[in-house]
Amino acid sequence: HKLGYAIVGLGSYATKQIMPRFVECEHSQLVALVSGTPAKLTRYAAEYNIPAANCYSYADFDRIRDNPAIDIVYIVLPNSMHAEYSIRAARAGKHVMCEKPMAVSVAECQAMIAASRGAGRKLMIGYRSRFEPYNKLAIQLARGGHVGPTQLITAEHGFNAQPNQWRLDRALSGGGSMMDIGIYSLNAARYLTGEEPLTVTAVETTDRTDPRFRTVEDRIDFTLKFPSGVIANCLSSYSSGHNSYHVIGTEGYIDMEPATSYEGHRMTIRRDGKTEPRVLPKPAKSQFAGQLDHLSECVLADRQPIVAGEEGLADLRVIEAIYQSMREGRTVRLDRA
Ligand code: NAD
Repeated sequence: HKLGYAIVGLGSYATKQIMPRFVECEHSQLVALVSGTPAKLTRYAAEYNIPAANCYSYADFDRIRDNPAIDIVYIVLPNSMHAEYSIRAARAGKHVMCEKPMAVSVAECQAMIAASRGAGRKLMIGYRSRFEPYNKLAIQLARGGHVGPTQLITAEHGFNAQPNQWRLDRALSGGGSMMDIGIYSLNAARYLTGEEPLTVTAVETTDRTDPRFRTVEDRIDFTLKFPSGVIANCLSSYSSGHNSYHVIGTEGYIDMEPATSYEGHRMTIRRDGKTEPRVLPKPAKSQFAGQLDHLSECVLADRQPIVAGEEGLADLRVIEAIYQSMREGRTVRLDRA
């Protein structure tokens, strides 16, 4: 049985990465579209064989409540709209997949979790790397001590941001590189250790004369200290390209570059004095289809997704502490909630 997905927001990620992947899915199908642009609805409805009755505008979005073909609503909107649409979807009785960052504040994440819980529905965040074979292996090796107990993690994520887009407008993005791409460094440090950081120290470097950075930050260097003693040195940037992480243990290291890209992951392991690439077979299902099917499987079996709302909330807690640290110029301690 395939569960029906409605995609909300027909932008670049939804149309180029997610919608074409439903053909690979075993438990998920695309059944409905939500967009503010009628021409996009017409175009993608034709392309994906979606009946006109399953096409919605933002104004009539809440009518999805009356459409039993829709089981799951996938929110692929600008960050500051995630909370509102996730909560409206939950109130319409639907399970929710929401893109990263889950929302733009801890308070919004908590409201989303409460709404889904109150409706008795699942909530999952689009952390696709958790369904990608190299990242899955890296987690297993790092946590299993394959290169000895982890001492240090470095994680770098960035790209050179094009001007004039919602990502550079704080009202829509909630913040700069950290919200969009630095979150991959943070999330990796958390999934490679399986721990929550105790403290964060962050330094911002932003050229405020660059018109791209009137309301959002460019670069943040941040250090996380974990309970086991592991230190993660992380980079988030909107002015240079990075996509890597390294797990350094007492007996060697695991290198990933690119680490969290859409494809083309490369892993190198140093252990027992030898440095060798690790090549995995191409999986039958892409990370995108794996992510879509995971939520469907969790709904069907009534299980909690491995990247439920609580995971998105955990990242936002650290992001708020990172922003506080760079504002106040000091190390911030994360209190256990
Ligand atoms: P995009 O700009 O290509 O798409 C955003 C969509 O939202 C557009 O279709 C736009 O028309 C619509 N929209 C509705 N109201 C809007 C408003 N008020 N202002 C601007 N746009 C509005 O962006 P995108 O790259 O597709 O990103 C969408 C979401 O997906 C973001 O939260 C982003 O972080 C996430 N994303 C995730 C990944 C990933 O690998 N997991 C990759 C890219 C983007």
